[in-house]
Amino acid sequence: MARTFWVGGNWKMNGTVAAVKELAATFNAGTSPSDVEVVIGAPYVYIPLLADSLRKDWAVAGENCYIKASGAYTGEISPEMLKDVGAKWVILGHSERRNVLGESDQFTAEKTVKALQAGLKVVLCVGELLEEREAGTTQTVVNRQLDAVIKAVSEADWANIVIAYEPVWAIGTGKVATPDQAQEVHAAIREYLKNAVSPKVAEETRITYGGSVNAKNCKETAQKPDVDGFLVGGASLKPEFLEIVNATN
Ligand code: PGA
Repeated sequence: MARTFWVGGNWKMNGTVAAVKELAATFNAGTSPSDVEVVIGAPYVYIPLLADSLRKDWAVAGENCYIKASGAYTGEISPEMLKDVGAKWVILGHSERRNVLGESDQFTAEKTVKALQAGLKVVLCVGELLEEREAGTTQTVVNRQLDAVIKAVSEADWANIVIAYEPVWAIGTGKVATPDQAQEVHAAIREYLKNAVSPKVAEETRITYGGSVNAKNCKETAQKPDVDGFLVGGASLKPEFLEIVNATN
């Protein structure tokens, strides 16, 4: 089964009501190939507006969620709430959650389980720090991050998970991984899934690349056999995102 190319935007903590409306209008007017799945991650407060104004062939994602459906968890947002306001996806384990907010592999895995149970699809982010790459431990780190989720979910759950490999040294730095660097890690992730989960899951799971993806550098990386799409930060706040959606054309 061919894997459907997947392109996600991750707006992070950016936006205003006016900017959300303007970007949605820009994206709605653009070309989006029918064989590419597109998802936009927005700050919680803008999700209802985005879900309302964005083209219906694209989906909306939360950028995080908590592990409970409701209750005394001041300031948290549940997967059920994300779903209630129109999100179909949630981004989990982003490096900013892991490294700035201190979220562990286990917490990320628990969130993944709860989000899937609530009926959301999950963008599971993994990736190494610069010092980990320099120490030659990229795959060890990525496998450890994957392992927590592999242990927590069922084989069938993988149909609702997209992996985003995002080397931390490439995020927001303008220092994109080369197509070969991305391919190397993606192939190793697929091999890991094959052994740790199943050949079927390895074959069918989309593994996307994130980290300084832009309209110029996306085309060559998109051609790599184990690159099934992108998770885009900065460039997803610009009309340029449409070019990345069309990277395989
Ligand atoms: P960037 O961010 O494209 O701005 O590097 C990617 C991400 O953090 O998902």
